Amino acid sequence: MRVPAYAAPGARAPLAPFAVDRRDPGPTDVQLEILFCGVCHSDVHQARDEWGSAKFPMVPGHEIVGRVTRVGQGVTRFKVGDLAGVGCMVDSCGRCEPCRRGTEQYCTQGAAFTYNSTEMDRTTPTYGGYSTQVVVRESFALRIPAGMDPAGAAPLLCAGITTYSPLRKWNVQPGQRVGIVGLGGLGHMGVKLAKSMGAEVTLFSTSASKQADARRLGASHFVNTKDPEALKAHAGSFDFLLDTVSAAHDVQGFLSLLRPGSVMVLVGAPPEPMKVGAMALIWGNKALAGSLIGGIPETQEMLDHCGKHGIVSDIEVISMQKINEAYERMLRSDVKYRFVIDLASLKT
Ligand code: NAP
Ligand code: ZN
Repeated sequence: MRVPAYAAPGARAPLAPFAVDRRDPGPTDVQLEILFCGVCHSDVHQARDEWGSAKFPMVPGHEIVGRVTRVGQGVTRFKVGDLAGVGCMVDSCGRCEPCRRGTEQYCTQGAAFTYNSTEMDRTTPTYGGYSTQVVVRESFALRIPAGMDPAGAAPLLCAGITTYSPLRKWNVQPGQRVGIVGLGGLGHMGVKLAKSMGAEVTLFSTSASKQADARRLGASHFVNTKDPEALKAHAGSFDFLLDTVSAAHDVQGFLSLLRPGSVMVLVGAPPEPMKVGAMALIWGNKALAGSLIGGIPETQEMLDHCGKHGIVSDIEVISMQKINEAYERMLRSDVKYRFVIDLASLKT
C-alpha cells in the first residue's frame, strides 16, 4: 500500500512530502498505524549525509509508536488495537552469535535498520517513521507498558535504549557517581535512567540555561562546561561517564574526571574524529568505549523499567510540516528535550 511520508530528497535539500510503499503484512508481520515518531539527532546526521552512506530519498524516523491495525496469521504477541513500538531495527539474520544473544544491532550480516538501510534481502530499501504506516516482523516490535503516554514513549525506542544499555552493561550501581555529558534527547534520558538506577547524577552542559531542568530531571549537580575551571573541581571523582554530545568536542578533558579503573562511554556520534592522548587513559587505567542502541530483549527490558519507574521522555509535539524547523532548533540545542511528530498531521 502507498502511504504518505516526508523524505529528504538529498543531503542539501529540506525534507518534503513523499510517498512510500509498505508491504502487505506477511505471516509473522504486524502493521502499525504510526501515531508518534521522535526526532533523533541521528536523523539530522543521516538526512544531511554527515556520516557518509546516505541513500536518497530518505524517510528518517526510528522512534515509532503506533497502533496495531493488522497482524499476520502466525503473529502471537500482538493483536489488533495494541500499542506497539519500533526502534532502530526492523530485522537481522537471527542466526549469528550477536543475534542469538539478543544483540541484533551487532548482527554480523548487518542488521536491517529502520531507515537508510535495506531489508535482509539487501535490495528493498527501508523507510522510517516519518510516515503514517509501517509493517515490521513481530519479533522487532516492542510492547508499550500499559498506561504509558504513547507520545512520551516514542523517544524511549532510541534515546531511551541507547542510554539504558551502557548504564546496564557497565553495571552502574546505587550511590555511584555518574556524569552525563550533554542535555539533549539522549542526555535527558540518561539523567532520568541513571537516577532511576540509584546513581548520583551530574550533568555536564554547554547551556547554562538548562541548570534548573537538569535538577528537575534528576541530576544532583550541574557543571557548565564553558567554564574551563569547572571541570577541575571534579577531577578523579566519577565512576562512569556517558557522553551524548552530537558535535566534536574535548573528550579527553572528561577522562580526567574518571576514578582509576573506570569507564567513559561515547554514544554521541560526531562525524569528525576526536583527539584522545594515550596518557589520558594510561594514567589511571581508564577505558573509553562506545555503544550502539541496544538489542530487542534489552529494549523491552528498558520499556518495562520505564513503565515501573514512571519514566517517559520530556517532549515537544510538532506537526510533520515543522520538521525542517525542528532540525534547525535541534542544531541550536533548543529542544526540551525531544521533538515528537504527531503523525495525525500527515493524515489530514
Ligand atoms: P541532541 O538532542 O541534539 O543533543 C545533543 C546535545 O549535545 C545538545 O543538546 C547539547 O547539550 C550538546 N552539544 C551539541 N553541540 C555541542 C558542542 N558543539 N559542544 C558540546 N556540546 C554540544 O541530540 P541527540 O538526539 O541526543 O543525539 C546525540 C548524539 O547521539 C548524536 O550524535 C546522535 O547521532 C547520537 N546517537 C547515537 C546513538 C547510538 O546508538 N550510539 C543512538 C542515537 C543517537 P548541552 O546544551 O547540554 O550542551
Ligand atoms: Zn536515534
